[in-house]
Amino acid sequence: MRAVSSFDVMVKPRGAMCNLACEYCYYLPKEKLYPDGSFWMDDALLDTFTRQYIEAQDAPQVTFAWQGGEPLLMGLDFFRRAVELQERYRKPGMTISNALQTNGTLLDDDWCHFLKERCFLVGISIDGPREQHDAYRVDRGGKPTFERVMAGVEMLKKGGVQFNTLTCVHAANGDHPLAVYRFLRDRVGSSYMQFIPVVVHDTGPGRRGGDPVTRHSVRARQYGEFLKAIFDEWVRRDVGKVFVQTFDAALASWAGQSPGLCVYAETCGTAPVLEHNGDLYSCDHFVDPDHLLGNIAQTGIGTLARSERQRRFGLAKRDSLPQYCCECPVLFACNGGCPRNRFLRTPTGEPGLNYLCAGYRDFFTHVIPYMRSMVEELSAGRPAANIMLTMARKDAELQQRLAKARRNDPCPCGSGRKFKHCHGRR
Ligand code: SF4
Ligand code: SF4
Repeated sequence: MRAVSSFDVMVKPRGAMCNLACEYCYYLPKEKLYPDGSFWMDDALLDTFTRQYIEAQDAPQVTFAWQGGEPLLMGLDFFRRAVELQERYRKPGMTISNALQTNGTLLDDDWCHFLKERCFLVGISIDGPREQHDAYRVDRGGKPTFERVMAGVEMLKKGGVQFNTLTCVHAANGDHPLAVYRFLRDRVGSSYMQFIPVVVHDTGPGRRGGDPVTRHSVRARQYGEFLKAIFDEWVRRDVGKVFVQTFDAALASWAGQSPGLCVYAETCGTAPVLEHNGDLYSCDHFVDPDHLLGNIAQTGIGTLARSERQRRFGLAKRDSLPQYCCECPVLFACNGGCPRNRFLRTPTGEPGLNYLCAGYRDFFTHVIPYMRSMVEELSAGRPAANIMLTMARKDAELQQRLAKARRNDPCPCGSGRKFKHCHGRR
């Protein structure tokens, strides 16, 4: 890994403060790191951060990524000031963009007017249709939030604000991939989706069955099946129209490019997190005293983000892989997943295997022929979406063979099962 030239900071101007209390949230407990904290980024720090962040960038494009907790709790004036400062410190020729992740419940016309006017890209956190969303995404009184989130989505649409969706995959929606995907595509109108697995390591009484995770967590195989089911629909009808972050990352890996997503990259460490008081941490999933890089009021953000300590953090993702991963046929696409989830042992007893390994292996193996086909199209200068024509032809051929199959024949789909136990099952 070369020294980090450009880096993306995720900013949490209100720390872990949020108006909701989603049951699986990993960030709410971070409040305890600052027992006397105001959880409010003041104007002086916003000024310091904006200036340092822009100065430290080598690239002509800079993105400010606002997160929480719930960043809208800062109020509109904070963000008006943020873009004012961005304009003040912007270098000649530099393009600045803003991305904001929100639960959507506080959006109103004033917010949407501002977000549209200042070209913010808004990420809405939504876990699927009402039943799946409300399973864990509740407010501080334990009340469901689906209606309020959908009202926010309608506001964004009405105001013409560009938005995408972030869906946590967990125990309650993990068995409903197509319901979730179709809802996001057809009802929400999302054309860029992220599916983030909820994995919370727990060896205590809250653990799920024999698994070392909380009851909210998605199971490894469930996550693999979830991604596969959505992929199978996507590859037949939505390539080029709907962008699913994991599929984009996989296609990039098959094409020999960077996946653009730290979880599937060989090394990481290029997205530190800035807390409300100026503390900079290695990553959103490692906000703890061991991964505190320093405070930007004392040391410049560029120095901290490019420090030897942060470099080692990023390299450890690759260098701590167990042998089982090093010999894995889909290592180039998976890269062992996020170190945060590497708390299993391999079949030979080596520590450091990702909890989601079984799901990752299943998914990345499943997509091999499709990925190869799309890369072939792209290499020939044709759109990857051509795969949908290939799939339509193959599906029609399969239907013809299925129509002719007898009960005890091997199933023409190639599953290895008898027809009567596979596609011939009533
Ligand atoms: S620790 Fe995980 S989430 Fe953090 S940068 Fe590395 S891969 Fe990404
Ligand atoms: S699929 Fe499993 S074995 Fe293969 S690289 Fe990923 S975590 Fe490692």
